[in-house]
Amino acid sequence: MAYIIVDTCTKDEHCIETCPVNCIHPTKDEADFATAPQLYVNPVECIDCGACVPVCPTGSIFVLEELPEEYKSFVDKNAAHFN
Ligand code: SF4
Ligand code: SF4
Repeated sequence: MAYIIVDTCTKDEHCIETCPVNCIHPTKDEADFATAPQLYVNPVECIDCGACVPVCPTGSIFVLEELPEEYKSFVDKNAAHFN
């Protein structure tokens, strides 16, 4: 299981500042930050702490079990960023 970010993400990096294991990317100092349409959670590294959810001003982060049906494709999109 992991947390999932969807495309309402505005890349404001609040979640990055909160994540204790630094598993949300790209960060601003990574080359693909400017072109990335949103940020993504590395599903292998995420420890499911949930700390990122309340700091997201756009409600763009979901625990897998609560991911709305219309966002199911973002499970693979988050994982694909790290492949
Ligand atoms: S806090 Fe929310 S809007 Fe901000 S970068 Fe993270 S997922 Fe995107
Ligand atoms: S649930 Fe915790 S470990 Fe996973 S992305 Fe959010 S803050 Fe990071």
